[in-house]
Amino acid sequence: MLRAMLETDAVIKRYDGVPAVDGVSLRTEPGRTTALIGPSGCGKSTLLRLLVGLILPDEGRVLFDGEPLTRASLRGVRHRLGYVIQSGGLFPHMTARQNATLPARHAGAKGGWTKAKIAARLDELAALTHFPEDGLDRYPGELSGGQRQRISLMRALFLDPEALLLDEPLGALDPLIRGELQHELREIFAALGKTVVLVTHDLAEAAYLAASDIVLLKDGKIVQRGAFADLRDRPGDAFVERFIAAQTERVEALVGTGGGRA
Ligand code: ADP
Ligand code: MG
Repeated sequence: MLRAMLETDAVIKRYDGVPAVDGVSLRTEPGRTTALIGPSGCGKSTLLRLLVGLILPDEGRVLFDGEPLTRASLRGVRHRLGYVIQSGGLFPHMTARQNATLPARHAGAKGGWTKAKIAARLDELAALTHFPEDGLDRYPGELSGGQRQRISLMRALFLDPEALLLDEPLGALDPLIRGELQHELREIFAALGKTVVLVTHDLAEAAYLAASDIVLLKDGKIVQRGAFADLRDRPGDAFVERFIAAQTERVEALVGTGGGRA
């Protein structure tokens, strides 16, 4: 099974001179789920976009399986990364089927993606994400928020990438659907065994989906990394303590009081 390692080495990314990511060195564990968490504006999305190569750092390096990401190397690496954003990023004028299969249609028959192979892969992913067959010919505007995110996930997984990066994928969903998709995502991550980096501002979600590897950010810097139980029982500073305390009740409701080591 292919499982990539994503790494940043002393990465700085500034906007208008102000660092959004400020000296982050992070190495993800291949085949495991890492959650990036922290208050709004702390740099989570910027760090994820650096890891996917959508933006390049001002200083430091981003490495994909040990290879530095550069403008030149990006083309070769893109299809090895799947990326899902909060709003889904679906094209409104394309059906669910057309959206989901886009990466393969783009690669085309020359890339080995015949019509039959695309159809088979779509079936497989619809089953994995529990997407109803009769929804495939609808447009995004005719789907529920949860169904739209299932299509985004299918599209991100279509070319079987080695790593999956998700930026608050459940952030726009109502609590009930969100809970349902949290369970499904956990099953999907476990079934795929891929390297996953998940951005969330919800500690319960981080503890549930990435129990053993939570990275807490503040002002563009990593303040603490560990299992939920480490952060809860051994907070490195007052900020960590406050951040955890504010959400602990909800974490325990979702993952239990054991600390959610999964
Ligand atoms: P988070 O995802 O944790 O909420 P972001 O990574 O989106 O945080 O943003 C971190 C900081 O960088 C914020 O202050 C934000 O305003 C700034 N920022 C992010 N993207 C841009 C951009 N494209 N242009 C200017 N400033 C940005
Ligand atoms: Mg964000």
